Amino acid sequence: MPLELIKEVNGVPEIEPLSKLHKVDFRSLQPGGDYSKKYIQGKLSYISSLTNGGNRTLVLKISLQEQENSDSEVNTINVSFFGKLAKDCAKVFYEGDTIAVAGFIVFSASSTSRDGKQSLLLKAFEDVKSTVYVYVKSVKDFSSESMSLVPATHYVYTPLNQLKSGTIVNVYGVVKFFKPPYLSKGTDYCSVVTIVDQTNVKLTCLFFSGNCDDLPMIYKNGDIVRFHRLKIQVYKNETQGITSSGFASLTFEGTLGAPIIPRTSSKSFNFTAEDHKIVEALRVWASTNISPSSTLVKLCDVQPMQYFDLTCQLLGKAEVDGASFLLKVWDGTRPPFPSWRVLIQDLVLEGDLNHLHRLQNLSIDIVVYDNHVQVAKSLKVGSFLRIYSLHTKLQSVNSENQATSLALEFHLHGGTSYGRGIRVLPESNSDVDQLKKVLESADLTANQCSEGICPSEREDSFPTVSSSGSVSLYEVERCQQLSATILTDHQYLEKTPLCAILKQKAPQQYRIRAKLRSYKPRRLFQSVKLHCSKCHSLQEVPGEGDLDIILQEAATKTPDTKLQNTTLYDSKIWTTKDQGERKVAVHFVKNNGILPLSNDCLILIEGGTLSEMCKLSSKFHSVIPVKSGREDLELLDLSVPFLIQRKTHHYGCKQCSSLRPIQNLNSLVDKTSWNPSSVAEALGIVPLQHMFVMTFTLDDGTGVLEAYLIDSDKFFQIPASEILINDDFQHSMDMIMDMFCPPGTKIDAYPWLECFIKSYNVTNGAEQQICYQIFDTTVAEDLI
Ligand SMILES: [Zn+2]
Repeated sequence: MPLELIKEVNGVPEIEPLSKLHKVDFRSLQPGGDYSKKYIQGKLSYISSLTNGGNRTLVLKISLQEQENSDSEVNTINVSFFGKLAKDCAKVFYEGDTIAVAGFIVFSASSTSRDGKQSLLLKAFEDVKSTVYVYVKSVKDFSSESMSLVPATHYVYTPLNQLKSGTIVNVYGVVKFFKPPYLSKGTDYCSVVTIVDQTNVKLTCLFFSGNCDDLPMIYKNGDIVRFHRLKIQVYKNETQGITSSGFASLTFEGTLGAPIIPRTSSKSFNFTAEDHKIVEALRVWASTNISPSSTLVKLCDVQPMQYFDLTCQLLGKAEVDGASFLLKVWDGTRPPFPSWRVLIQDLVLEGDLNHLHRLQNLSIDIVVYDNHVQVAKSLKVGSFLRIYSLHTKLQSVNSENQATSLALEFHLHGGTSYGRGIRVLPESNSDVDQLKKVLESADLTANQCSEGICPSEREDSFPTVSSSGSVSLYEVERCQQLSATILTDHQYLEKTPLCAILKQKAPQQYRIRAKLRSYKPRRLFQSVKLHCSKCHSLQEVPGEGDLDIILQEAATKTPDTKLQNTTLYDSKIWTTKDQGERKVAVHFVKNNGILPLSNDCLILIEGGTLSEMCKLSSKFHSVIPVKSGREDLELLDLSVPFLIQRKTHHYGCKQCSSLRPIQNLNSLVDKTSWNPSSVAEALGIVPLQHMFVMTFTLDDGTGVLEAYLIDSDKFFQIPASEILINDDFQHSMDMIMDMFCPPGTKIDAYPWLECFIKSYNVTNGAEQQICYQIFDTTVAEDLI
């Protein structure tokens, strides 16, 4: 490459590409000599501006000062660069830089120096395979290779308050919030970053990439980022940035005075002195305008019930179950309480067991869940990590000798809310440097078990039920992100694996996370039943055919004229032409002696068929099927609806209701709203509720459990009373069930359901059985 940057670490070049070439002193240069395999080196003492030479060729002139032979007569030499090389050099050369030029041609200069000696001029251009090496002090660690420069592109950076939707821009900013890369629903990695700049305008960016390393390498809030080719768009009234083709990012530490080392996976990028200044300026601005991130906590300082970021080294790892993974880590300091110990078979623990044993009082057990499992699996023992938004909880542990002691639990909950995640830190990271020093000087002598039993010997702290409180907001948000259902209460409860639930006695309540392996019944209309809240009986919803038969039977009786036209209602009789002149009586219920409009009017029907009632129910507010009793009109029969409102049929429990005569409707003050429960109460009816009654076969990888879902409208957020008469609701229901159990896919791809279930005993003859029921759970809103 014609131009290469050689990074210097502490003044020493990391690579020596010149070692194969022969270095020439300035004084031994001769015009016309062969310098194709030789180089000169010196300090840049003068640099011209880029000018146009003859034939429109760009020219850059510099003076180099030889350092070694400073007392020599010839210790300065002029070098001219031509063409593209001139242009590229102009961008990286700064006075004071150490520069080497290899493969050049030496000419006699047309002018002579003051002391009469002939001065020399070196010319360098790509055509003669000239190579220019620039030793870079201020910009270290670009990558492991020396960099070739990206050909001339001048980047313009847009302040965050001047972004326009639909444009592709380059921006700089300070990280206010970020989510480390995580696997999104597809196979892409996703990262969310919110940045701010001196305009105090914030921009949230969403990045997707098939390669995790291509996403910004942000390690903490306050880091400084540079995004190239960021697409600006407006989503839900908010301006946001997203990846566009050719997107690239650099990340820098935000600490004032820290070396400016770009973090990037990109092998070729442009980083100029101008960029250097922008980063410095952002650091200065952030130091006074952005409160420093205070979430980084050492283990010796952790508190129970805390969310914090931890920088640590991975000592061991093991799979706990399909949805959780154990990480054993340390940071060289000793936590205030012993860590809980997650029970796993030693066989599956990856890591040096002797080392772990030595560090047992300094190491902690972290259980990571759900989306973090995949990341945890890929971690290498020995690597340095930052774990974001780690959650601590203090739990009392009962040991075999009845003594109770306290242990700290460490959880990395599922989801990415609050930036939860794990990131591997490179060895070059300054925080890793510090961590290594602490680890080297860690007090290993403090490792004796001082009192009671060694925490590592406890085997009863398997992460199961704990009723200790926690922050419910986290959980709600987490479920919405990752579970197809969410809990409407009890978010503080810890999850229990199904295998543990199946071993326990009833009654109990559990929070579980499982997949819906299958469900019954498969036909929707079969899943809706009528439920009595008093006697808890369940019955089928009568079909139209059954209703028709009962109503036809009742229509054979002639309405009693004595019971017509009362203070409660006005009556009208029709004689139909079918079936031997059947008589239908319609009684219009009055409100304070006045007939209301049909929209507000309740009518009582004697002798009507189902189709007649359906027609009338579309015109009148409510319809009650009645028959003539001895002294008053009576409800027809609880096998048919006691109240029909539009298409909705309200039923009552035959077992629990004790019917009262129709005149009791007089007790209702307002005779226009006809609230079903008020009507039922006035008529002595215990109403039945439409319920979804289904059996869910739940599977969480540890066990399989059948749980009932008995729910009127809370779980699916669809009223069971209306689903049979509403196509939209039926469609929604189909979508939900297809989402729970996607047809044609394996259970691995099914979504997780976060559910709350209770166990109860059912005695069936001599046999006692434990049943489970889902409650206080609802389908996540954004999925409907
Ligand atoms: Zn009942």
